[in-house]
Amino acid sequence: MTDFLPYAKPDVGEAEIAAVAEVLRGGWLTTGPTAAAFEAEFAEAVGGGVEALAVNSATAGLHLALEALGVTAGDEVIVPTWTFTATAEVVRYLGAVPVVVDVDPATLNIDLSSMLAALTTRTKAVIVVHIAGHALPMAEVREALPDSVRIVEDAAHAFPARTKGITVGSTDASDIAVFSFYANKTMTTGEGGMVTTSDPEVARRIRIMRLHGIDRDVFNRYSSERAAWFYDIVAPGFKYNLPDPAAAIGRVQLERASAMRERRQRIAAAYTERLAGLPIELPHSGAEDDVHAWHIFMIRLRPDAPVDRDEFVRRMSEAQVGTSVHFIPLHRHTYWRTSLNLDANFFPVAEDVFSRVVSLPIFSRMTDSDIDQATDGVRTSLVP
Ligand SMILES: *Cc1c(COP(=O)(O)O)cnc(C)c1O
Repeated sequence: MTDFLPYAKPDVGEAEIAAVAEVLRGGWLTTGPTAAAFEAEFAEAVGGGVEALAVNSATAGLHLALEALGVTAGDEVIVPTWTFTATAEVVRYLGAVPVVVDVDPATLNIDLSSMLAALTTRTKAVIVVHIAGHALPMAEVREALPDSVRIVEDAAHAFPARTKGITVGSTDASDIAVFSFYANKTMTTGEGGMVTTSDPEVARRIRIMRLHGIDRDVFNRYSSERAAWFYDIVAPGFKYNLPDPAAAIGRVQLERASAMRERRQRIAAAYTERLAGLPIELPHSGAEDDVHAWHIFMIRLRPDAPVDRDEFVRRMSEAQVGTSVHFIPLHRHTYWRTSLNLDANFFPVAEDVFSRVVSLPIFSRMTDSDIDQATDGVRTSLVP
């Protein structure tokens, strides 16, 4: 009997273990020189010209992003329904209102016309999500929106990713991009995230708020002498810093990120070739010169497929292949549906896709025989 192929597995090895051991031996367990080095390397990796700020999750990064942009009680922030709850929950942390909109049927990224239709005088910001690692061109989003509306990229799936010559995390067409290093993301620190921005004021606010609202620059303004013990609290900040042992994992993962992405791209190419002709729709793979992060490989069962999604998932499991569903749209969750009064009729694209969508395993440690196991599983699960 073949072993069960899990939906996802992190790709960490001896190099990551050695890097953590070295940090532990050095004795600096919280945020310090390793986190600073990781930030500098990450900023370079997205092309330079931005500040990168390490945080202990993408959720923390999204919260800090909205706070730095001045989102406050009563403001509206437009978010797509096709995302993880973190994208919208951070809006609530600030007492603001998520305005949930439908998505583009091809990419499942935010639908620009629905986004524009949702604008009001209270709209403070929009959060876009680069679903599966397929980058949305940010210049088009910026051009479509009034200047007063700020833009945050939820780039949890999108490292490394690129479209129209722009690497996600490098453009000033948006205000801030936020990456996730959760265990199953394209690179990991166990838990962690990174915020990038080219706006020095935003970077300064995030740096202060990610660590208790501590401002160490204040003293320097009043004195040319530095006192290591001195700090001033300028706001009730948060505890969102990334510790050095996690940053040590991140530095190794960053070096390997491109090779890991290439492996996922090969898996995506194998799926695309070998699943052709079945009663399924394959995911949008982006333009020819895009870099797709391939965090998720979503297929949709065609309406004429012999099984429905739930039966397909059961059969895949019998065929020893793990699957997942990305995502249960926000409007289908009790909290969002009831607190925002969301009606499924507002989201025809998400409703149609949700009933048919399923994600196949795509992680860099998959072997060629794992790919065989997954494609054979899809084939046998679609037998009438
Ligand atoms: C994983 C994920 C997040 C949250 O990332 P954490 O690092 O776990 O906080 C946010 N948005 C999306 C779209 C995600 O998939």
